[in-house]
Amino acid sequence: MECGKDVAIIEMMDRIAATSAYAQELALYDRVPKYCDLHLSSPVTRITPTQVGYKDPETGEEKFLDADTVVFASGRKALESEAEKFRFCAPKFFKIGDCLKASNVRNANRTAYDAAAQI
Ligand SMILES: Cc1cc2nc3c(=O)[nH]c(=O)nc-3n(C[C@H](O)[C@H](O)[C@H](O)COP(=O)(O)OP(=O)(O)OC[C@H]3O[C@@H](n4cnc5c(N)ncnc54)[C@H](O)[C@@H]3O)c2cc1C
Repeated sequence: MECGKDVAIIEMMDRIAATSAYAQELALYDRVPKYCDLHLSSPVTRITPTQVGYKDPETGEEKFLDADTVVFASGRKALESEAEKFRFCAPKFFKIGDCLKASNVRNANRTAYDAAAQI
């Protein structure tokens, strides 16, 4: 971008930073379309050693962009079913932190505190 790189963003939702605060999203829209090749509503289908594939929102066909570096930032999901495997290991069982919902250290500490308070 500003360092002389050609940058493309491939996003499966119809907005960038859709789950961030409104002010952050506005700030991004001020700059991103100016500097980046932006593809919205375009789920990534595959990453090869030289390209990134995505589903074109209009035709539904798979298209490819050439890429020498790929930053894969697709978010996280809780592995709740993995945690459930421990449910009957003890009389009391609490799911805390990221196994409930991918979140942050504050949430991990808060849910751990709540669980500890019930033991
Ligand atoms: C790249 C990245 C950056 C982040 N940056 C921040 C940040 O700046 N600030 C912030 O607040 N949060 C940040 N987070 C989120 C934060 O790291 C998590 O929300 C937090 O670590 C969740 O804590 P947890 O104890 O629930 O899970 P974890 O920290 O994931 O701990 C779970 C542990 O259980 C172990 N485990 C899993 N299965 C088993 C098993 N069967 N037996 C034994 N052990 C097992 C795992 O190896 C792991 O060590 C970041 C997350 C990532 C991925």
